[in-house]
Amino acid sequence: IAGIAAALLARRMVVPIRVLQTGAQRIGGGDLGHRLSIRTGDELEALADQFNRSAEALQNSYETLEQRVEDRTRELTASLEQQTATAEILQVISQSPTDVQPVLEAVAKAAVRFCGAADAIITLREGQEMKVAAHDGPLAVARLGERSPLDRTRLSGRAIIDGQTVHVPDVTALDPSEFATTLDLAKQAGFSAALAVPMLREGLAVGGIMLRRPEPGPFTPRQIELLETFAAQAVIAIQNVRLFTELRESLEQQTASAEILQVISESPTDFKPVLDAIAKAAVRFCGASDVTVALRDGHDILVSAMHEGVAGARLGNRRELDRATIMGRAIIDNRTIHVADVFALDPAEYGTTVALNRKQNLRALLAAPMLREGGAIGSILLRKPDAGEFTPRQVELLEAFTAQAVIAIENVRLFTEIQEKSRQLEVASQHKSQFLANMSHELRTPLNAILGYTEMMVDGLYGALPEKATGVLDRVQSNGRHLLGLINDVLDLAKIEAGQLAITVEPYVITDMVTTVLSATESLARTKGIGLSSTVAPGLPSGTGDARRLTQVLLNLVGNAIKFTDQGSVEVRAAQVGDTFELSIVDTGFGIAPEDQKKIFEEFQQVDNTSTRKKGGTGLGLSISRKIVELHGGAITVESEIGKGSTFKVTIPIHVAAAKEAAQ
Ligand code: ADP
Repeated sequence: IAGIAAALLARRMVVPIRVLQTGAQRIGGGDLGHRLSIRTGDELEALADQFNRSAEALQNSYETLEQRVEDRTRELTASLEQQTATAEILQVISQSPTDVQPVLEAVAKAAVRFCGAADAIITLREGQEMKVAAHDGPLAVARLGERSPLDRTRLSGRAIIDGQTVHVPDVTALDPSEFATTLDLAKQAGFSAALAVPMLREGLAVGGIMLRRPEPGPFTPRQIELLETFAAQAVIAIQNVRLFTELRESLEQQTASAEILQVISESPTDFKPVLDAIAKAAVRFCGASDVTVALRDGHDILVSAMHEGVAGARLGNRRELDRATIMGRAIIDNRTIHVADVFALDPAEYGTTVALNRKQNLRALLAAPMLREGGAIGSILLRKPDAGEFTPRQVELLEAFTAQAVIAIENVRLFTEIQEKSRQLEVASQHKSQFLANMSHELRTPLNAILGYTEMMVDGLYGALPEKATGVLDRVQSNGRHLLGLINDVLDLAKIEAGQLAITVEPYVITDMVTTVLSATESLARTKGIGLSSTVAPGLPSGTGDARRLTQVLLNLVGNAIKFTDQGSVEVRAAQVGDTFELSIVDTGFGIAPEDQKKIFEEFQQVDNTSTRKKGGTGLGLSISRKIVELHGGAITVESEIGKGSTFKVTIPIHVAAAKEAAQ
């Protein structure tokens, strides 16, 4: 019995312990729902209960943890998705710098996907109206581009007007007296919950995004926030495109203006090409389908250029300048006239304009006057088939074009005037030269007679003269010669100007020429106490040219050199360089300042300082010399330094005839 009892006791103990053991294993293995059931009524049962309680606690905390992880994961996924969505829209923005449409469409799609809506509509504000710009979703909507009044009877209107988000979890709770339109639309399209956010730029709404859902219920704060982000992105895109378009437009306008300026500069005698270019540019840049340029002609206006010509207007057409056309009115009133819709004009006032444009079906008109001091000289008219204003930019551009047209016309006028003036001047100058040539000739003859008689008197042909008279006759003679020199100079110049100075080409020998000049000036140099010498390169060939005129040049240069040298010497050098003679007259005189070196070759120009002025002269010598040398196809130059002296260099072709031909 004791054995049986012991065995029984052992069974009573062993079984629950085994239960305890396996149960603990299951729970430890992760089966937190497992419970032990031991009904022994002793410590073992108490132990099992203890086990069960901890298992339950464990199970509870495990479940909350799992829940939390799940929540957190969902949250993370959601915010990741949102970030992806916003990043995607940024991507679309960057890919579409010139067009908002793709961005608005991407925003509508993303809003539906991430903001818990069935449907999204984007509207843009246009003055007192709003226009459907994008839509995504199954609910009915006004067709794209359709306009509706911007008012507070609808959610999107309210969001735009107030610049604030409007959240309606259940439209049936809305006050029908306030939201009549929304309630109508909700019935038509079948939505119960709605969310509208404004698209704000600098505090003002440029449009709005509205989400709709058939089932009632609130949107979460996260969804609202995300929609507001999308709205901000849409604004960025719109702004971007606006800036881009503005930039492009202003570039285009600058190009257009530059092109017209180019035409102006290329066509100084004719403004027709400029008007044509302007007409073309106006069609391209001012949104017009038709351009007419008309100029005022007395009491008429004359169609002077046009583009995309419309039946009825023709180049050269004339019409009375009156206030019945807007072109006439722009000219008469000196101001731009803008007509958004011809059909709205009063035919009593604008009879011709209304009649013409109705017939041609052109509804929007813009005419700007071509303003010049003292009134408009014409006007430019833009027309387009659709009613609606031209943009301020287009108006501005047209006004710029009219200004350019005026410049072109003025240019041509001035150019023609100047041409006429210079022709008149040329004629006058020719007359003057002719007169001078005649006069000099008329003066020379009697002067030569005077000189001849004086000489004969000095020579005693009319008997002996008292000493006093001889002295006076000497003075008469020297003054007379001086006068003859002057007259000869003036005659030369006049001949040159009248184009009558011709050179006689004959053979000459440089050495002879130099000798002649030196012997003529020797006494002058001697009187002044300065040296006079020449260096002629040996074996110079003989040349062909006008020996008398070339001697005159050399005489003038050597005479000047002696005249403007008080100390030292004057040297004449002659050499051959290639197929030219090079004659240099080197002096050690006053020198000529660099700024004067060009001037002295002009007619009647002398260096303006007292020391040279004192030396007399007319300032004609060098200019005559230069012309003679140039007639030979040569050149005359000067190198000089104040206080050190001057070197005048004459280069002439050895054989003139050939060179003259080459020079022509
Ligand atoms: P003119 O000698 O009759 O005044 P030119 O035409 O021969 O007229 O010379 C113009 C001016 O050039 C002179 O008045 C003088 O001022 C300057 N000039 C010419 N040759 C010399 C020279 N060798 N040295 C200094 N000045 C000179």
